[in-house]
Amino acid sequence: MNLSNKEILDYLKRADETSDRALHSRADQVRQQKVGNVVYLRAIIEFSNYCRKNCLYCGLRKDNQKLQRYRMSEEETVRTAKHAWKMGYQTIVMQSGEDPFFDQTKVTKIIEKIKKETNLAITLSLGERSKEDYTAWKKAGADRYLLRHETANPELYQKLHPDSSYLHRLQCLEWLRELDYEVGAGFMVGLPGQTEEDLVMDLNLLKQLDVKMAGIGPFIPHKDTPLALEKGGNLNLALRVIALTRLILPEINIPATTALGALHSEGRELALKCGANVIMPNGTPQIYRQFYQLYPGKICLNEEPADCVTCIDNKVKNLGRTTDVKVGDYD
Ligand code: SAH
Ligand code: SF4
Repeated sequence: MNLSNKEILDYLKRADETSDRALHSRADQVRQQKVGNVVYLRAIIEFSNYCRKNCLYCGLRKDNQKLQRYRMSEEETVRTAKHAWKMGYQTIVMQSGEDPFFDQTKVTKIIEKIKKETNLAITLSLGERSKEDYTAWKKAGADRYLLRHETANPELYQKLHPDSSYLHRLQCLEWLRELDYEVGAGFMVGLPGQTEEDLVMDLNLLKQLDVKMAGIGPFIPHKDTPLALEKGGNLNLALRVIALTRLILPEINIPATTALGALHSEGRELALKCGANVIMPNGTPQIYRQFYQLYPGKICLNEEPADCVTCIDNKVKNLGRTTDVKVGDYD
């Protein structure tokens, strides 16, 4: 759907219930027509919380000395992926901080083993890496890559990422596309200093990048970061942005992000009702979950992967939708 920048901006700024209700229901209709009623589940496996970067907003940033760091072994990562496969997942997302310990060879081996033992589609979300790394992992069988652009305002990007550059982030996204990954980008809503005009640029950038997936969630301040005292993102604004994304890019995958679930107990269900069609249940073994806190209020800290898939399957059914996971198949 072609919405002008002015129309997008009007929706974003018009914080009234009637306008939101109309926008949400329009996005819900488009979602149903274009991508149907299935909610795709992707198990996210957070296999390392080491990070070489210092993104101002993130709890995993290098300078956060309070965080206990962990790495899952290669064997445990593969075992966790196989467990997800047995639970009925078709896709996993392997996510970590930017951890050089997991070099090209180690990640390649993990991908090859998972591909040999399952038919899982593999999505990587390991941050900015070299073109050679991306090439090797694609060759090993990786299918998709998630790299949020975080904000399309270059000055804001620079402030938030002291050790990275906006142009380099875009360069990585371009490499991924050239290499034929299915690429996902995305951004945070409510970053300190971010304006509604910036959000219009974010939506335009998603279109320009021709992404197949867009991860959008509220910024949530973490107490052990330089942004501890800032105000967090607003739920209604985040939902408005998700609905607009569905209108602008009708056929892409839009997850109901975990950050929405952290901000509000019904956050993910609300997103599914205004355009979202994917959920990423936590597939990380319970012992590690408390240490992978990009932001506070992370949900499901005490559950194991099997609990998460059952719980989310039920939530989706309660909305009158179905999942692509055959719960109950696992041993
Ligand atoms: N290291 C990789 C992947 C892990 S971070 C990378 O940076 O791409 C995954 C996402 O978490 C980031 O893209 C960011 O958008 C989000 N995130 C980090 N800190 C956050 C916070 N405080 N509030 C909301 N989202 C956050
Ligand atoms: Fe590291 Fe990603 Fe967090 Fe930045 S957002 S500090 S790269 S884990």
